[in-house]
Amino acid sequence: MNASDPALLASPPLVEGEDRLPPAHKVYALRTLPMGTIRAIGFDMDHTLARYRSPEIDDLAFKKAARLLVRERGYSPWLLETTYDPDFAVRGLVLDGLRGNLLKLNRERQAVRACHGTRPMDRTELEATYGRRRLATAAKGFRCIDTLFEIPESHLYARMVDGLDCGALKADNYLQLFGDVRWAVDTVHRNGEMKAEILQHRDFFIPKDPQLSLALDRLKREGKKLFLLTNSDWAFTDGVLSHLLNGLDEARPRWTDYFDLVVVSSQKPAFFLEAPEAHPLAGHPHCYTGGHATWLETMLGASGEQVLYVGDHIYGDVLRSKKNASWRTLMLVPELERELRILEARANDLRGLQALETARRRTQRRASVLLDQWKRNRAHSHVLGPRMGPEAAQALDHEAAHLAASTEALEVRAAAQAQELETTLARVEAAFNPLWGPMFRDRDEQTRFADQVQQFACAYTGRVGNLYMVDSLSTIYAPVPALPHERLG
Ligand code: IMP
Ligand code: MG
Repeated sequence: MNASDPALLASPPLVEGEDRLPPAHKVYALRTLPMGTIRAIGFDMDHTLARYRSPEIDDLAFKKAARLLVRERGYSPWLLETTYDPDFAVRGLVLDGLRGNLLKLNRERQAVRACHGTRPMDRTELEATYGRRRLATAAKGFRCIDTLFEIPESHLYARMVDGLDCGALKADNYLQLFGDVRWAVDTVHRNGEMKAEILQHRDFFIPKDPQLSLALDRLKREGKKLFLLTNSDWAFTDGVLSHLLNGLDEARPRWTDYFDLVVVSSQKPAFFLEAPEAHPLAGHPHCYTGGHATWLETMLGASGEQVLYVGDHIYGDVLRSKKNASWRTLMLVPELERELRILEARANDLRGLQALETARRRTQRRASVLLDQWKRNRAHSHVLGPRMGPEAAQALDHEAAHLAASTEALEVRAAAQAQELETTLARVEAAFNPLWGPMFRDRDEQTRFADQVQQFACAYTGRVGNLYMVDSLSTIYAPVPALPHERLG
């Protein structure tokens, strides 16, 4: 390799004397992951091995689904006038199909932000609609936006709700729109329209990451069995992965050479719940369609916690493989790189917010102590006043006036500090997304998405190529959990 080799250029900058990895290249453990005990590593394909150019791919799904709705479900061509807004939705939100809303939930599953159609709801409307109720998101009428494929669907649904509200579209209710938009997006994925267009322009839609083949090659040379487990069919998988991996390594000319076992059309999450038969793919050794987790473990000679599965779907890839097969899980969060960039750019604001909150709490504490002293003073005056000389009574009143003025000054300061906090916080959160703020938190609460990642993923990272920097025998350590009283300083 020489200095102009793209693989070298893409590697994390390991400058001499600097052995820290940039945050975007790290694998973050939530449960300590001893890589030495892992015998087989599996990969999902879409949005995991293959990253798609966004928002262009979302725009494609949005337009195709909108056209289908007009052509086959009789919706007004008004729908085609809308352009796709890539900032409207983020992963982790929840669609409320009954009411035409998109919601951000906290870890208690309470709505903390919402839009009706594309219109943001204010606090009063949010409170009136959902209160502090814990929402049962698995119930009919809700849809969790858990994969990147579902982001355009959210905007399309919101525009249809706008259309119904303003009379541009006709439907019985929001739930009908919800069913129709699901049908349309599902259809453009299933009928091959999306896949054909992606493959036709794969240089554009599927950017290459030179670190991907290096990571797979290193893991394989270090003795791990690698497998592919994707819901995509053979034709699409072959088209995508030959584009990403063929011809990069003389020792592994074809993409299939990186894997000990390839499973396409895998029907996750059913792959972890049921036991359909696996069918070998004619002409492609060690490639199958269908199958199930126990069969796969037998094929690989690795089971349970000896298997690490890498995927982007919190439910189909992470939750089910952990709960039903006891596999260890690495969740791919492609959005992490952007969230980290913003966190870094806003580090001063974030530190400022912390200092301001500490100052506000101190001011409030001092105000409450002064208020208490004023109350004691007034109680004394009430009880002892009649027995006091005029001078002593006057001194007491004087002190009371002073205490009242000081308390008021502190309360005014605390209110100003709270206002400054609000303004800075709103500015920082809007840098992530003007409507929804960051994916993993809202103000000082974690989101439903963050809670699910914490519950079910052993680790998370932004791209598969980051595994190149992980030694197959090393341990990726999770932070030691600590209760508030155990924290130092
Ligand atoms: P995986 O992430 O590699 O398991 O593959 C996901 C597959 O699901 C891809 O082939 C997508 O095109 C497909 N897909 C995504 N959304 C939908 C949908 O709404 N209906 C049907 N297939 C979908
Ligand atoms: Mg996927």
